[in-house]
Amino acid sequence: MAERHFKYVILGGGVAAGYAAREFAKLGLNPGELAIISKEAVAPYERPALSKGYLFPQGAARLPGFYVCVGSGGERLLPEWYTEKGIELILGTEIVKADLGSKSLISTSGEIFKYDTLIISTGSTVVKLSDFGVQGADAKNIFYLREIEDADNLYAAIQAKKDGKAVIVGGGYIGLELGAALKVNNLDVTMVYPEPWCMPRLFTAGIAAFYEGYYANKGIKIVKGTVAVGFDSDTNGEVTAVRLKDGRVLEADIVVVGVGGRPLISLFKGQLEEEKGGIKTDSFFRTSIPDVYAVGDVATFPLKLFGEQRRVEHVDHARKSAEQAVKAIRSAEQDAPIEEYDYLPYFYSRAFDLSWQFYGDNDGDTVLFGDNDPTSTSPKFGTYWIKDGKVVGVFLEHGTPEENSLIAKVARLQPAVQDIQQLEKQGLAFASDI
Ligand code: FAD
Repeated sequence: MAERHFKYVILGGGVAAGYAAREFAKLGLNPGELAIISKEAVAPYERPALSKGYLFPQGAARLPGFYVCVGSGGERLLPEWYTEKGIELILGTEIVKADLGSKSLISTSGEIFKYDTLIISTGSTVVKLSDFGVQGADAKNIFYLREIEDADNLYAAIQAKKDGKAVIVGGGYIGLELGAALKVNNLDVTMVYPEPWCMPRLFTAGIAAFYEGYYANKGIKIVKGTVAVGFDSDTNGEVTAVRLKDGRVLEADIVVVGVGGRPLISLFKGQLEEEKGGIKTDSFFRTSIPDVYAVGDVATFPLKLFGEQRRVEHVDHARKSAEQAVKAIRSAEQDAPIEEYDYLPYFYSRAFDLSWQFYGDNDGDTVLFGDNDPTSTSPKFGTYWIKDGKVVGVFLEHGTPEENSLIAKVARLQPAVQDIQQLEKQGLAFASDI
């Protein structure tokens, strides 16, 4: 079988891979030194677009519009860009075996790729209901969303089932974004999730009440406190209904499941040190094996601001960790030290005409401020998280770019709070004064 060798190999062709390639090019790269190996058939793109603009009924986002690095306001890396830089895109190629001892990766077709330095950026995969043996979960028109191919299949079903019924299983940000996307495509949408409110991993009851009220006003039905336990399908194998644990049955032409993800690290089991479900790294994204780095969703790294190891599944970290790893690789070659990674967690979501940002940590007591009435014509509200007398996290819906910068600054500086009631009254003004 063919064997190829590259100085640098990036395994996985998602968000982190694209930003790593740009950083390599920025720091100087000889043609033929770098290869990106990806299971996907297209060059790295901004994955968050898949649950947002990609599904718009009009003017939907399509490649080449959202190749990396447009998401951070940078130059779009078209496939030609990689060619110009002499970076090899090895697409549609799944690596099924990794032998870190002999520095080799082996693809489905048996091709061997050797490297001097490896960056692992395999990201996450979706958790499937069939993994838990949910009856009928392999019916047609039950969708998951991770890669562009999934988004194409969902888009085709939306066209085929115009004005039909859609059930969204899961109340996380993917569920919320997809609920909105299917509603704007004129489907009759019901969302189902077991928790007492949506996005409980981040939202407080007060934050969630706004979004649930807003979605209800848009005509989306929300069923809480129960789960899907089975699916019915017709003679073509297409889903027709979702059976809930509480006995209810929801008619469905399309089902979209967003019940979580898990990092893709099984290729390296027993070869690399793991922590908190990811590959353990230091502040330079070096793993426990020399010349092997891990970035993006798969890395469990030291989050300096909070003094602990964390894994972060957000696009901003995918971009920044990739840049940090490449800086570290190049600086090690030149024996020039670089700064440790000092990340401020940042997460955002957009749906309908809503848009929120969150910075920091959602730990401790909370203070809700502003107008979170879902029927308001200009809702604008936020939440501070306070731990040990300091603000450690801030959420804001409908913030301007300036206001979002202010809340980021607060989360980074962690100012002390003297009076909680005063903070509630001050709201955003507190952030302006920092
Ligand atoms: P990915 O971008 O997932 O890339 C991993 C790549 O590795 C993929 O190309 C995959 O095919 C490839 N791969 C995996 N295994 C192999 C293998 N064995 N062989 C070859 N190739 C392989 N984050 C936010 O902060 N805000 C958002 O609004 C937001 N929206 C999102 C919407 C959707 C629909 C999804 C799925 C994610 C969203 N995220 C969002 C999360 C964000 O996209 C991820 O955190 C980010 O993409 C992680 O980057 P990554 O490079 O680590 O992994």
